[in-house]
Amino acid sequence: MHVVIIGGGIAGCTAAQTLKHLSKTTEVTLISEERPLYSPCIFPHCLSGKIDSTRLFIRTPADLQKLGIRLFEGRATAIDVARKEVRLADGRSIKYDKLILATGSRPFIPPIKGVEKEGIFPVKSLSEFEKLYNAVQHKRGTAVIVGAGAIGIEVAVSLRKRMWKVFIVELLNRVLPRLLDEKPARILENMLRANGIEIFTGEKVTEFLGDKEVKAVVTDKREIKCDIVLLSVGMRPRVELAQEAGIKLGKQGGIIVDEYMRTNIPDIFACGDCVETLEAASGRRMLSLLWHTAALQGYIAAYNCLGYRKKYSSSLNTTVINLPEIGVAVASNGITTEDLKDKEYKVVEKQDAGNYLRVLVADDEVKGVQFVGRDIGEEKLGALFGAIRKRVKIVTLKELVRKGGALYLIPQLSTFLDYFY
Ligand SMILES: Cc1cc2nc3c(=O)[nH]c(=O)nc-3n(C[C@H](O)[C@H](O)[C@H](O)COP(=O)(O)OP(=O)(O)OC[C@H]3O[C@@H](n4cnc5c(N)ncnc54)[C@H](O)[C@@H]3O)c2cc1C
Repeated sequence: MHVVIIGGGIAGCTAAQTLKHLSKTTEVTLISEERPLYSPCIFPHCLSGKIDSTRLFIRTPADLQKLGIRLFEGRATAIDVARKEVRLADGRSIKYDKLILATGSRPFIPPIKGVEKEGIFPVKSLSEFEKLYNAVQHKRGTAVIVGAGAIGIEVAVSLRKRMWKVFIVELLNRVLPRLLDEKPARILENMLRANGIEIFTGEKVTEFLGDKEVKAVVTDKREIKCDIVLLSVGMRPRVELAQEAGIKLGKQGGIIVDEYMRTNIPDIFACGDCVETLEAASGRRMLSLLWHTAALQGYIAAYNCLGYRKKYSSSLNTTVINLPEIGVAVASNGITTEDLKDKEYKVVEKQDAGNYLRVLVADDEVKGVQFVGRDIGEEKLGALFGAIRKRVKIVTLKELVRKGGALYLIPQLSTFLDYFY
């Protein structure tokens, strides 16, 4: 059997390695337009200087070849479903018995006047990162970060560490709007401001000024002079190949897969940033856009390609943002109160000098956990995250604690249970 994988990110590489681990005789071909395998999660830490950029790569082509994986550096341009073959940009075609799409995501470029100017950087691929890295190396200046999501915040802190002047402009009313409710978001904003980052929320970027190179960002409230701009306004799944091949897409624009990572076309699977899967806390189909879910999905796709029946139940929206440069950590899991607005829900809060924890409870289950502070207390958060994934009823947890239940998460969770009622 010959399995072809398109995309050499963590999803594609995990699928390739798992296939070889399960079956030495299965032929595996990995097509990737970028050199595998680097982690974009390390980009901000390379920018700050905390991690050397030589450590971006966590596998080399030689590592993969040693496992017997055949590597094609190049772009797949089409899938011929009837002939079961993939066409490459250089004119060649590769036949497959099973195909795994792991084409990932790319940054959304907002249609703002002047967005094509030099010095305006999106960041996802290695080449995009290298351009940003070269622009800030051995220099100081002013950066405007458009979008206060996780990547925007991490890069803002990294550039501050390099003594850049940093502004964040966010259209919505708070930082990390998809991860944090207003109260924890304000706490984080205060921490960022205390470290010299200027933040403007509820503000819309309307134009980038400059001749060839960007010189200023215009918003609906002000003009900010700058040397560079980072665009971090979200990722979009890369689905052109899938779409042209007749593979069904979901409401969020990702490839629809079932619990075995199968698409609607026989023998074609998909995994990673390019797919939509069920999210544990809401039960809705969502793009996960996280490293650990991409890896797990690649692993599961590989099993099912070989005829095993391994299920991917749902994605857990776990984001942890470590900002060691300023001694702050943020963690978020599950959903926010905005997602719960049509339900009755309860907010449980714990706050001490350096830490804020917020737990959202609805339908007698933990639906969301948000933390901002200095000491992340991983054990306790892990237990709460586990409760979201397992959809354990609070009443069951209380009963288990009363009976001295042995579930591994009970001892840590019991410290929170008193707050739930
Ligand atoms: C700056 C940054 C920081 C991040 N930090 C975190 C973090 O802390 N934690 C976390 O969980 N996640 C983080 N992420 C998200 C994480 O990197 C992604 O979820 C993960 O990389 C997705 O892996 P993937 O394999 O699905 O896709 P990708 O990493 O996008 O890889 C897909 C690969 O497929 C290739 N490809 C696409 N189409 C074709 C084609 N037609 N032919 C050949 N090759 C093709 C692409 O070039 C790419 O190399 C971060 C992302 C960024 C950008």
